Amino acid sequence: MESNIDQLAEEIERVLLIKDKSKDGQSGRNSSDECRDRQRQDGNSHAKVDSATNANNSKAKTNLKDQDQDRFERENYKEEYVESDTDQSVPDAYCSSSEDSDDAYDDGAAAYKGPPLPLTVHTPLLVPGTKSVFPQDMSVIDAIVDMIKSGAAKKIVVMAGAGISTDAGIPDFRSPGTGLYDNLQAFMLPYPEAIFSIDYFRKKPKPFYVLAKELYPGQFTPTQSHFFVKLLAEKGILQRHYTQNIDCLERVAGIDPDLIVEAHGSFHTAHCIRNTCRKEHSQEWVKEKIFADEIPHCRSCNSLVKPDITFFGEGLPSRFFDLLEQDFSSCDLLIVMGTSLLVQPFASLINDVSDSVPRLLINRMRVGEAKVPGPGFDFDGRHVGQLHRDGLILGDCDQACALLAECLGWKEELVTLREKFLAQKNP
Ligand SMILES: [Zn+2]
Repeated sequence: MESNIDQLAEEIERVLLIKDKSKDGQSGRNSSDECRDRQRQDGNSHAKVDSATNANNSKAKTNLKDQDQDRFERENYKEEYVESDTDQSVPDAYCSSSEDSDDAYDDGAAAYKGPPLPLTVHTPLLVPGTKSVFPQDMSVIDAIVDMIKSGAAKKIVVMAGAGISTDAGIPDFRSPGTGLYDNLQAFMLPYPEAIFSIDYFRKKPKPFYVLAKELYPGQFTPTQSHFFVKLLAEKGILQRHYTQNIDCLERVAGIDPDLIVEAHGSFHTAHCIRNTCRKEHSQEWVKEKIFADEIPHCRSCNSLVKPDITFFGEGLPSRFFDLLEQDFSSCDLLIVMGTSLLVQPFASLINDVSDSVPRLLINRMRVGEAKVPGPGFDFDGRHVGQLHRDGLILGDCDQACALLAECLGWKEELVTLREKFLAQKNP
């Protein structure tokens, strides 16, 4: 199904830190002046980005249903991790750099290839009379910045996908020409995503462990987006960070694990896959086996041991279900970053915050929009009678997070966090 992925994914190694320090002090301009200028500049590229976005958007598929049905379905998903589109079945972290022009692949990050998109802070064209949570005389970004600065937003929930890890340099296993792709070809997978099918794994575990060795956490550096979330945590205003990624970069960035929900599991723990055993094995032990090119077998029953990444055909971690009600019912600002919102039940979480809670989508393309009044994003207040509360920043997550940090006056802190991390990593 992914045979049309036929070009080498571009390795993006950009440093997105805004290093225009020379302006500071010399011109006497403050960060909010610059922030406004950047937004204005961003606005100029609106049409261009929008047309590209619309072209992509026609391919985007959403599967948003009414809230009750979402809940009902989520209950069922407890038993099995499935996707709203069978063509798009990979944990988000592995979708970050696929070269796929025909399918709306899993992720917003993958839907556009090329140089970084200029950021566009979407200006909603509201029908007169539409009520909005955002003040009319403010851009969405200013309004959200204001909420955070004034303390109105202090229980922020972040939902993230592969788009926040795009610049971490994680290789794509579906790009021909890469060593990883070639290694996996030797196993003759029936289709690339079979590597995350529990049924396939039971029969042929080796390809997964080859992939796991290449992608093992610890080899990649968190991005601006991860450090932005860490800043929210440090400020004490992060209620929880829900990630679909299995790259552990949130942990690597130093975000308190209590504040993270790895919705599709992670490498952090591992268990025997035999239902009657389920013995836990340490991450260190499993890592040792993986790096020695050995298949880890349970020390009790000799079945396979697998890191607790949620494979297709498996239930989501109980932590996901345990926390979502408390987190989403108390949330006062929802930030959704770098995900196409195609994977259920994750995607439907956007509907679980209260009707008046502002929601901000940061993504390379518009996703998750409601076609009819009800759940789903409504960036333009199209649905009469509903309170407008959805903001949109089109572009790369890292750039958008840098812009938010700048507007919040956290620019230096964001830079320092990353520099500190790199200094510790490469002393
Ligand atoms: Zn066992």
